[in-house]
Amino acid sequence: MPRAKKPSLDEYVRRLFAPVDAALATVPRRQAAEGLPAINVSPEEGKLIAVLLAAVRARRVLEIGTLGGYSGIWIARALPPDGRLTTIEIDPRHAAVARRSFVEAGVLDRVDLREGPAREILPSLEPGFDAVFIDADKQSQVFYFQESMRLLRVGGLLLCDNAYLDGRVVRARDQKPDVEAVREFNRLAATDPRLVATIVGVRDGLVVGVKVSS
Ligand code: SAH
Ligand code: MG
Repeated sequence: MPRAKKPSLDEYVRRLFAPVDAALATVPRRQAAEGLPAINVSPEEGKLIAVLLAAVRARRVLEIGTLGGYSGIWIARALPPDGRLTTIEIDPRHAAVARRSFVEAGVLDRVDLREGPAREILPSLEPGFDAVFIDADKQSQVFYFQESMRLLRVGGLLLCDNAYLDGRVVRARDQKPDVEAVREFNRLAATDPRLVATIVGVRDGLVVGVKVSS
């Protein structure tokens, strides 16, 4: 990953722009203690998401894939007091860790944590989101793309983590379902006429798009 090439510059950005307080620092430790994977966003990715949310004055945000609530804290803190994060998590153990994280970070009042498969929950949501952050099971990416485009307002942000899938997107011989789904998501993000999008090379790649027409 590019990160390994420039650890000191990433560290510089992190210290200056993305310092983590006790509530954020606790989440990876709690995830490790509870046997959850260490696949949360990095501080500089969390800060990038916060900057982008501020740019569109986001009030209603949807996250698909909560894990222990690390990215959720970054998102909730980027919202105004009357803002709302709806975040979807299939694993009840992950959701329980996330709930504790949101309480400790003082953002639970802004968070609507929905437990269940995103495929079942997304169709029940009403459009009007200012941003959607997709970061869950990669096989479902194309469905998540379609649902996100339905749910986003014009001018809203489409964000999707792991756009590089650990470099696998450019390994042509790797044709497993997860990498094919990420490739198809990226292709849709690049070519859908309703979107202006690119991949920002932070950590494992973040798709950043703006829905410019309905
Ligand atoms: N956004 C988090 C990391 C999410 S990891 C962060 O950066 O802090 C991916 C999460 O998606 C895992 O917790 C996993 O349980 C959840 N997930 C996987 N498949 C899902 C599905 N079908 N519906 C909802 N959540 C799912
Ligand atoms: Mg991710």
